[in-house]
Amino acid sequence: MNTKQPLDNLLPEIRRKALKRVDNRPPHELAASWSGDDLMYSGPGRSIFIVLPTPGCAWALAGSGGCSMCSYIADSPLEEVSSDALVDIFKREFQRQIQKCEITGPTAIKIFVSGSFLNEEEIPVEARRAIFKIINEYDDVEEVVVESRPEYVHEEVLKDCCQLIPNKIFEVAMGLESANDDIRLHRINKGFTTEDFQKSMNIIKKLKTDFNVRAKVYLLVKPVLTSESEAIEDAVISAEYAEGVGVDRIAYCPSTIHKGTLMEVLWRRGSYQPPWIWSAIEIMRRVRNLVKIPVIMDTAGFGTRRGPFNCKKCNSKLKDAIIKSNIKQTIPEEFECECKVKWEADVEFSDVTRSTTNILKNH
Ligand code: SF4
Ligand SMILES: [Zn+2]
Repeated sequence: MNTKQPLDNLLPEIRRKALKRVDNRPPHELAASWSGDDLMYSGPGRSIFIVLPTPGCAWALAGSGGCSMCSYIADSPLEEVSSDALVDIFKREFQRQIQKCEITGPTAIKIFVSGSFLNEEEIPVEARRAIFKIINEYDDVEEVVVESRPEYVHEEVLKDCCQLIPNKIFEVAMGLESANDDIRLHRINKGFTTEDFQKSMNIIKKLKTDFNVRAKVYLLVKPVLTSESEAIEDAVISAEYAEGVGVDRIAYCPSTIHKGTLMEVLWRRGSYQPPWIWSAIEIMRRVRNLVKIPVIMDTAGFGTRRGPFNCKKCNSKLKDAIIKSNIKQTIPEEFECECKVKWEADVEFSDVTRSTTNILKNH
């Protein structure tokens, strides 16, 4: 673990101020769920997403200030949530989704806790077990996906999870963000090294002989203090690295500006812009030819003021092209728009603090 603070200790202060502005809400009000088409290991299917309120990400609460792009801590109740309450909330949200659309055909359950599901301080072991037992009753659920920082990936915990859902894929999704230690530690403030990440991968790989356990990584497209061209290069290199160390699938998360983050502070000062959608397309083109594992580009926030943006004429067309490419795992179709030359100029000339995207997007 690396606890060195980047950016002159700005992050804890920004986080402290942001948390002061948060209205505390009871845990059940912070829960959420939805479902939608998704790509599963077996092909196209449906995913049910359930957000559970936990005390909050331990990394963000530990005085580090958390990661420079993440505001999940502001959506956490910041108080203990009992196992019984967590299980009740899970049941309620799960039932809500089943009532909307019954579970038939390949389904994945993705549990988001705005932190680490495998950290027993965030999700007590009793709650984890009860939730998995409920899920195990549904034969069509093929995959169960949870998120965790690598330091909570322990052999015993993974075994316990896999044994509760013996016929399902159990996937641990980790926010690697970048394969580059300098970017991950000093621009994202992620607090773990490539070596730490590889240790967790070694545990997962070892367990694969006996269990159906998989690893997924999230890669952040364009952290703060990163130019457009560096963001593209880093995204491509990181995917190659992830495949090389045995990751089973990749989800790119192009930056969107969350409230109360360092990213927002820099964005407000005109020193940061989320990536162009063209960059997302470029990454997918290059990565599809380079790696064989499934790769998804998350399109949340595309075309919004705080998210990846091209121009009003092409935002939604390119977003649709990426969604199609996600489901079919194909290279996004060729597309032209007059804004593309501005992106090309940005890739060629932008430096790390300012970019021509500011001019285009602020008008
Ligand atoms: S990105 Fe993950 S590890 Fe970082 S602060 Fe947010 S929830 Fe915590
Ligand atoms: Zn355009």
